[in-house]
Amino acid sequence: MKGPKIYLRMLSYMRSQFPLLLTSVGLSFVIVSLDGASMWFLGTLPQILFNAHAQVPQWTAFSIKNINAWLKFWTYSLVYGGTLGSPLMVTCILVGVTFSIKNIIQYTNKLISITIHSTVVQGIRDTTYHHLMRLPVTYFDKTESGRIVSMVVNDIAQINNSITTTLSSLILEPMRLVLFIGIMLAINAKLALFVFVLYPVLGVIIGWIGKSIRRRSNRELQSFSDLISVISETMIGIRVIKMFRVETKETNRFKDANLAYKNRYIRSEQMRSLASPITETLSMYLVAFLLFFGGSLALSGTAGFSGEDFVRFLILLVASYQPLKALAGINSSIQTGMAAAERVFANLDLPVERDVGTEKDLGQIAFNESVEFAHVNFAYPGCAETVLHDVSLHVPKGRVVALVGSSGAGKSTVLDLLPRFYDPTSGAILVDGVDVAKASLPSLRSLFGIVSQDNVLFNSSVSANIGFTDVIPDPSRVQAAAAAANALEFIEKLPLGFDTIIGERGVTLSGGQRQRLAIARALYRDAPILILDEATSSLDTESEKLVQEAIDHLMKDRTCIVVAHRLSTVRHADRIVVLDKGKIIEQGTHQELYSANGRYKTLYDIQFAQNSERA
Ligand code: ATP
Repeated sequence: MKGPKIYLRMLSYMRSQFPLLLTSVGLSFVIVSLDGASMWFLGTLPQILFNAHAQVPQWTAFSIKNINAWLKFWTYSLVYGGTLGSPLMVTCILVGVTFSIKNIIQYTNKLISITIHSTVVQGIRDTTYHHLMRLPVTYFDKTESGRIVSMVVNDIAQINNSITTTLSSLILEPMRLVLFIGIMLAINAKLALFVFVLYPVLGVIIGWIGKSIRRRSNRELQSFSDLISVISETMIGIRVIKMFRVETKETNRFKDANLAYKNRYIRSEQMRSLASPITETLSMYLVAFLLFFGGSLALSGTAGFSGEDFVRFLILLVASYQPLKALAGINSSIQTGMAAAERVFANLDLPVERDVGTEKDLGQIAFNESVEFAHVNFAYPGCAETVLHDVSLHVPKGRVVALVGSSGAGKSTVLDLLPRFYDPTSGAILVDGVDVAKASLPSLRSLFGIVSQDNVLFNSSVSANIGFTDVIPDPSRVQAAAAAANALEFIEKLPLGFDTIIGERGVTLSGGQRQRLAIARALYRDAPILILDEATSSLDTESEKLVQEAIDHLMKDRTCIVVAHRLSTVRHADRIVVLDKGKIIEQGTHQELYSANGRYKTLYDIQFAQNSERA
């Protein structure tokens, strides 16, 4: 995306702030006018101090050519013809009053700009998060969580910085520059033209610096997100790190990432810091040159160019350095912000989950008959290898189908296709004969409850975790779900019962307790089809019994598709499907498959032998 396009897109978030923005533009105009007036009055001082015979000149009619003389007439009328006091006093009062009013308005304008930019940034952050929520699972497979956190937190903070510094200046400074240059033109067009010729040279140099800043900022932000990735990975895997005693290795990995970030930060700052001195030095050359050229003009007294005019011209020239410098600063700030915005917008442009909507909304029809896989082939996006080969599977309502097979056979993949975390490469998945690819995602997903291996719990209360689907969970349903999941006893022993906060990912609970909470959550959801990816981690006998009972309650009267690791679940399934390298190689009841003396029997015997050994 090209620079101006990105910036315009950044500004497009300002649409709702248009009335405030307009007010700010109006106030900026007043500020700039007062600024110009105070400079002008200041330029009168040499005349007052060094020309005792100065008096109000003849009345001059307004015309473009005569602005200088016209302004001088009114100024002298005020200064010399006023009743407030001596000309010196009147001039000082005028300078003081214009400065004070300008600063009061400037403060008000600042407050307005704070409101605008904070609202804009809030909008970008909301939109980004909303978009993240709608991105497909494949995005999260490919993107490190640290990178995502860094984008939402750091990149958007950079955009904030950029808008903050640029918003007011971008309106104010160009106006100021135009006004000052305008007056300079009115005083002496020839001299002002010299300034115009030299300003573009400055512009080219500033532009070059800006580009370089943007490149370096991009690299700096990249390093920062690497740093956050290391931190978040380490925090998630802290137990493994400690167990394997790789604290030093991990610390060194962090140090490397931190060092890389520092180096890139320094390189960015080097360029950012260069912007100001270069502009300043070049501007001073410009002033020196004009001092010489204009001074010579004033000394020779050519074309009515007086000493007073020259002093005023110089005051304005020096004053115009301030907006130039600010614009150079704005440039570096815009470039930094745009580097961040580029990443945020690239993310916002990623396509969201496909949700075609349908004539026959699954949410509106009851699930009455069956779920079916029809000749499904599947390869993970971006991977050449086909993971599922011609899988056909029929699950009638109310039945339990168990998927078994060795690790990597494709069991979890089958489960992930049901709620359309991924779409089949070919073939279809049908619910009551309707292709799920034609169903709206919310209606499809509301058919499923899930209890998975990694039972993700959230850092909120027990009750909020069980009633996860509702903003305000229904206490009686939470209680009933907890009771059916064999979780009531331990929950009541927690310090605050259902209101106890369970820590990030439920760290304050045991493995079995976490599983029972996840089962209670699925019970609360009460969806007609249960996807059960049983945990492989073994629990002690007592805990396993409680979890198994909870699962039995959950499976009762429900259609279940289970990846089973416990023999008991497999044995009682209505149908067992054996997967091998992504293909269904056997199907049938426990008895049928066991008697068939095939792969299932081998798997079963291995598990049985392991269980006997354990016993
Ligand atoms: P397990 O019992 O060990 O959980 P599984 O039978 O559930 O194994 P799957 O997780 O479905 O097996 O994996 C099937 C194949 O797909 C494996 O070869 C695996 O490497 C591959 N796979 C799984 N997830 C992804 C992914 N996100 N991207 C690419 N390939 C994947």
